[in-house]
Order: sequence, then structure tokens, then C-alpha cells
Amino acid sequence: MSYELNDKINNLVPYEPISGTYDIRLDANECSLNYDENFLNLATEAVKEVDFNRYPDPLCLELRKAFAEYYGVDYKNVTVGNGSDELIFLIESAFLKKGEKLLVAVPDFSMYEFYSSVTENQCIKYLKNSELNIDVNQLIDTINNENIKLVIFSNPCNPTGQGITKEDAIRLVKNTNALIVLDEAYMDFWDESNSLIKDVELYSNLIVLRTASKAMGSAALRLGFAIANENISKAIMAVKSPYNVNSISQAIGTKLYKNKDFLINRTKSIVENTKKLYNELVEISSTTDDFIVYPTKTNFVFIKTSFGKELWEFLKANSVVIRYMGDYVRITAGTTKEVETTVRLIKDFLSER
Ligand code: PMP
Repeated sequence: MSYELNDKINNLVPYEPISGTYDIRLDANECSLNYDENFLNLATEAVKEVDFNRYPDPLCLELRKAFAEYYGVDYKNVTVGNGSDELIFLIESAFLKKGEKLLVAVPDFSMYEFYSSVTENQCIKYLKNSELNIDVNQLIDTINNENIKLVIFSNPCNPTGQGITKEDAIRLVKNTNALIVLDEAYMDFWDESNSLIKDVELYSNLIVLRTASKAMGSAALRLGFAIANENISKAIMAVKSPYNVNSISQAIGTKLYKNKDFLINRTKSIVENTKKLYNELVEISSTTDDFIVYPTKTNFVFIKTSFGKELWEFLKANSVVIRYMGDYVRITAGTTKEVETTVRLIKDFLSER
């Protein structure tokens, strides 16, 4: 007797982050700054209050309230996940029946398509235009003509750094029957006025996703948030596993979202460093046609180049990691010093070619 893995998981390979130790990590769009001393003390106090012998609060009540207060939404519309990754998987699993169609935009966050292969849904790909933007009218037509049941994309987008305006996002939500999942993982870096987070009660087909992993600088906690009307929120809450968010993350996360000034100031400094990185890269792009730098609304810069692999290898050899993606590379904005080192190395690389 022998057990065989089924076809859909037989050839899957576990996600492997880059291994090794590097001086500068600019490959995962994380926040470049760790907690400061003051918040570290608050986090330590929060951990001391955890009842380690008890299961976590399955409703994440305190955390939801702190998150809701931070963004000015109703906590009843918020569900917490073990990172937004968990919520994406959950939503694709629960809101689509087997075989129903999901639409993802290309290029976008690769996990949207990956999870659909496990949930056995048909994944339709919408190709972005040459500037890597979504043409909303065209997207609405595709959704309606193809009978798409769920649409998921990041706004602003990882990896392109581009975003659609609130006006366009509303037009999309209003003109289709599909469930629209707007993954706003990087919205904190752009402009909250383009977010639909406060509008979820107005629509029956909208979920907004947010995360503590990017601007909030807490990737280690694994906290993601789904914001939707009561009906949808109830369904997400019902399908999630009861104790999906551990007590330590809930306790620190609650303190985190109550520290608005700390978060806003840190986000501002990351946005400044992203501008610095972008401007330096644009200057570099004036020296070669083979280095197209896209504008960014996030904490990273996306670049089209045919020498991405060589650049990635050169930087890695100098203890700096960026993300290599075929015809493109993506560079997260690090600290000021990290940006300066990386830019200097890119210039060295180009002058040595
Ligand atoms: N959505 C997007 C667009 C992302 O880039 C990422 C992380 N790279 C995630 C979701 C996952 O975030 P989390 O850490 O909350 O699982």
C-alpha cells in the first residue's frame, strides 16, 4: 500500500525566502525600521500581561477596536487574520465554489494565483497595459463577459508600485456583481483618500485588506485585516479557524494601533526614503535606456531592465538583497544609509559593465 499526493499539491514547492545573512535586506517590502526603544517597552509590558495558559481571544476584540479607531471604521466590520496571506487564502476558499472563476491582474502579488491552484478555482488573468496600469473600463467588461465571481488585486500594487484612484475603484465595485477584494497592503504609504476602507458598508461586494506587515513595521506579528460589511464579515469570521491569531500578536498589535503618532511619523520617514531612492534611480536611468524606473506609491521601486539578474547577483555579492523578477527588479526603500549604499553599488555595477 502506498499513499500518493494528489496532482494539485504533488509538484508544489514550499515558499523559500532568500537564505543567508545580508547586511541590507531590500527584497520583501518590509518596513526598514524596527520598533524604537519606547514602543519596545510597551510591547514588553503587553507580553507580560498575556495569559499564556489560555487560548487567544477568537474575536480579537481589543485589537479590532484599536485598528478600527486608527482608521476610523467600525470594529464590527473588521476580521483579523494570521497575516493577510491567511485572509486571502480563506477568502478564495470560502467565497468561491469549486470551479468558479477568479480574476487576478498581471503583474500583481503572486499568492493570489497560487492559492487559486489549491482551491481549484479557474484563474483568469487580466493583463495590465504597457504602463503597468489597470484600465478600469476594460476590466469591468472582462469581469462581466467572463462571469467572474471574485476579483483580487493590490492597490497600490506590489510589484508595480502603481495604484488606481478611489473613484476608479468605486466604479469597479459598482459595475460588477463579482466580489471585489482590494488588497490595500501599501495604502498607508500612498494616500488614505484613495482607500475604500471607510466605504465598505456602502457595498455588498467589497472586501478591503490591510496588514500590519508593511508601514506598521510588524511583519513578525503576522496580523492582517479584512474590512467588509456585516454580512461578509460574519462569513469570514465563521470560516476562519477560531484561534488563528495568537495572544502575543493580539496584545502587541493592540498597543501598536493605539500609538498613532509613532506609526505616522515612521511611515513619513519611509515615504521620504522611498522618494530619495526613486529620485536616485531616475537619475541613474538617464544614463542608460535599459533601466526604466516606474513611479511609486509604495515603499519600493519597480524597474524594468534586461540586466536584472546580473545586478541582483552583484548586489548580493556585496551583501545587499533586492528582488529579481525576470525582466524586472524590485527594490524596497531601506534606511537613508541603506539607500545610499545601494545606489552607490548600482552605479559601481553600471560603470563596470
Ligand atoms: N498583499 C500584498 C500585496 C503583499 O505584498 C503582501 C506581502 N508581501 C501581502 C499581502 C501579505 O501580507 P501579510 O504579511 O499580512 O501576510
